[in-house]
Amino acid sequence: MTTRNLHTGQPFTDDDAAIAAALEDVSIPALLCSLVHMTGDPSWIRGDVRPQVAIASEFQSRIPDDQLADVRRRALPAIAAYRDGGCEPHALSPELLHEMMEFLGCRPVGGTLEDLFVEDMQFDGVDGAAVSWGDDVPADVKAASPVVVIGCGLSGILAGIRLTQAGLPFTIIEKNDGPGGTWWENRYPGARVDVGSHQYCFAFEPGDHWSEYYCQQPELRAYFSSIVDKYALAPHCRFGTAVTSVTWDESSARYRVGVRGPDGVEETLEPRFVISAVGSLNLPRMPDIPGMESFAGPSFHSTRWPDGLDITGKKFALIGAGATGFQIAPTIADRVEHLSIFERTAQWIIPNPMYHATVPPGDRWAQRHLPFYARWFRFMMTFPGMAIGTEPYKRDPDYDDPTSTSINATNAQRRDILLTWMRSELADRPDLIDKCMPDYPAMGKRVLQDNGSWLRCLKKPNVDLVRTRIEKIVPDGVVTVDGTFYEAEIICYATGFQHNEFLAPMEVIGRNGVSLREQWGDEPTALLGITMPNFPNLFCCYGPGTNLAHGAGLFFHSEMQVHYALDAIHRVLTAGAQTIEVRKDAHDDYAQRYQKEIGSLVWSHPAITHSHYKNPQGKVFTLSPWPLELYWKWTRVADPDDYVIA
Ligand code: NAP
Repeated sequence: MTTRNLHTGQPFTDDDAAIAAALEDVSIPALLCSLVHMTGDPSWIRGDVRPQVAIASEFQSRIPDDQLADVRRRALPAIAAYRDGGCEPHALSPELLHEMMEFLGCRPVGGTLEDLFVEDMQFDGVDGAAVSWGDDVPADVKAASPVVVIGCGLSGILAGIRLTQAGLPFTIIEKNDGPGGTWWENRYPGARVDVGSHQYCFAFEPGDHWSEYYCQQPELRAYFSSIVDKYALAPHCRFGTAVTSVTWDESSARYRVGVRGPDGVEETLEPRFVISAVGSLNLPRMPDIPGMESFAGPSFHSTRWPDGLDITGKKFALIGAGATGFQIAPTIADRVEHLSIFERTAQWIIPNPMYHATVPPGDRWAQRHLPFYARWFRFMMTFPGMAIGTEPYKRDPDYDDPTSTSINATNAQRRDILLTWMRSELADRPDLIDKCMPDYPAMGKRVLQDNGSWLRCLKKPNVDLVRTRIEKIVPDGVVTVDGTFYEAEIICYATGFQHNEFLAPMEVIGRNGVSLREQWGDEPTALLGITMPNFPNLFCCYGPGTNLAHGAGLFFHSEMQVHYALDAIHRVLTAGAQTIEVRKDAHDDYAQRYQKEIGSLVWSHPAITHSHYKNPQGKVFTLSPWPLELYWKWTRVADPDDYVIA
């Protein structure tokens, strides 16, 4: 018996009325592609009805209403026929699938970018990124080659799945009491993902279950738990256990990994390989404001929001308005008596009406039942950002902007559109306009999405947006440098993370006693963000220079890094060798190219004075400067020329 391709959707028997009702909720561009699978007829994408734009949050791609209605009318009998025929989709040729990508993407698709999406879309129902080399390695070699994975968030879970496929013994060490990493830890009110849920998930799992287009933390946390269960990872996981040190032992060619368990007992593990999947936005960065310790009420970092904290009717001070503060404020504004938001730097905001939208029942139904609809929907959310690459973020050396608020002509246009929108939204509150206008190029920091809730929140009578610098914290509030006192009974520091401190706070020691922290200093680098000289058999996921402020593909990046790490491990095991270590010249050459590239992009712009992307000297070592397709190409194999395998 052949297994049904899980992306073809579950067979259904719903009647015509139910289908017609569902069609009111669906994305018509994604439906048109699904109809080609249902009918085998390419005319669905060759007619007059075509997406007008490819924008991740525009699910109807600006197709006029009369055309949407026309498609719904024509789709009903086609879907009913598909149902009556037993819900068997047609096999489509690669050429037709290519045409469908170009149809939905509104641009030519080819080369590596197309290869990347063919792997992701899984039209053949096969997880093309699955590890298939397990049988190349003798069983006794595998048994003697344990791997320690540090962290059970998205990358650690993925590493566990791939190591299971490879047949290698592994242990996942996780300091929290359960899986999910950042989505386990961040429980502040309003926490939700701000890239689309349908792309913020594993490609090898159906993405048909999300209840919101940008879902909230509890749902993500449950998602990661369900994946751990489904792939039987729990027996490999040691929760509530912190890694304290990672030390290379030359004589055994193994790492000694010091761990402290939930009962405080210390132990040493001795893996051959270590995969760090510790994330890079989880070490809280508390500000250094005089008087913080004197505050009389509860005060905490956003990532340590106390369980059961009662904020009702309280005077609340929120310090920091980045991606986190931006989510907290609108969620709590109506529950507190007064909310003072202290924002040091104004943020760029883009409108996204779908940001808090639930997935309506009809769309849920289509995601679950119509063949490849959910995959095309994922494509629609992912492709535009990836296809655009890093070009819009490049500083044009010949472009002169005396205001330092744009980097190229397109960026200036974008700035003007966003400023006009923000001004119009705040037209009834001119006092807020100056406070909300950023003074650095658009896209230069993490851009925040607003469905209106943030700007509405700022206008509430019980909310103050404070842009004046804080002078000190006093027992009952916050005082700014102009002497104004803001009373507070609770303070939340939504002040971000120590982004430049990769792998902190673990102590990591490599060959000849080299400390990773000292090797890095303020300038953490790794070949492709994954491997460092002096640290054989150690691989980073989400390491230096791999966070994404473009393309929004952290799951994609994680797949690439885990794939690369396992390819490197495979090379050692099949060569009968002990170690793989990146050559210093290969690493240094990459680091140089990295710095040249990142220095040419908007995130390095000198007008950006505060940014967690920058190190204390203002250089960027956190973000990827590469288009995702390029990074995908580079991580296909751990190039033996870059390594010493011994
Ligand atoms: P953040 O973007 O670094 O924002 C921190 C905020 O605190 C900023 O407003 C910052 O001001 C302010 N701040 C920091 N130190 C301060 C000080 N000493 N005095 C006054 N203000 C101070 O941190 P975050 O909001 O936690 O977000 C970090 C990253 O986490 C994001 O970029 C994103 O990658 C991720 N994240 C994602 C989501 C999501 O997907 N939904 C949600 C939350 C976070 P300046 O701007 O002047 O530095």
